[in-house]
Amino acid sequence: MRSMNWARPEIREGATRPKVGISSCLLGEEVRYDGGHKRDDLLLETLGSLFVFLPVCPEYELGLGVPREPIALAGDPESPRLVGLESGADLTERMRTFCAGRAEQAAAEGIRGFILKSRSPSCGLRGLDVLQPGGGILKAGVGFWARALQERLPGLPVEESDRLRDPSRRKAFWEKVMAYRG
Ligand code: SF4
Repeated sequence: MRSMNWARPEIREGATRPKVGISSCLLGEEVRYDGGHKRDDLLLETLGSLFVFLPVCPEYELGLGVPREPIALAGDPESPRLVGLESGADLTERMRTFCAGRAEQAAAEGIRGFILKSRSPSCGLRGLDVLQPGGGILKAGVGFWARALQERLPGLPVEESDRLRDPSRRKAFWEKVMAYRG
C-alpha cells in the first residue's frame, strides 16, 4: 500500500473507492432530532475523497420525523430499551426490527466499513448513557444501529466520528477497510 499523507489523504486517480456507510448527519443532512445536522468537515476533507459514502440515519428512516422527541437507552446496558425522553414511548422493538433489516440491506450494498456518529443512542458505538430506574446513568451502552451492524457483519471495520479526528486512527480505519473481505 502506498504511503499517504494522513492529514490530507488522497486516493490515486482511477482507483476504485470502497463503499463505506456513514451516519447521515455527519454529511450535513438535517436529520437530527432538533432539525439540525452534525456535519464533520474534518472527516469529510480527510476521508471524503477515499470512500464512496452511503448515508444511513436509522431514526429518520424509521419514520420518527424531524424534528422529533429525543430518545435514550434505558435499563440493562447489555440489552437496553429505547425510550422517548418526554413521552416514555418504548421504541425498542420497532428500532430493533428496522436496524436488522437495514443492516441486511447495507450488507447487500457491499459496504466495507461504517463511520458512526459518537454519543447517539442509535449510532454510538461505545460508552453511551443508559438511564437507570433510580435516576442514575451508566456509561456503558451501544447504539441500536451500531449493535445491529456488528451482529450482521461481524468484523466490519466500524469507528466513531470523534475518534477519527486522530490521523493515526484514520489511517488504521482506512487500512482495515482496504483489508476487509466480508
Ligand atoms: S446520530 Fe444517527 S440517528 Fe442520530 S441524526 Fe445522526 S444518523 Fe440519525
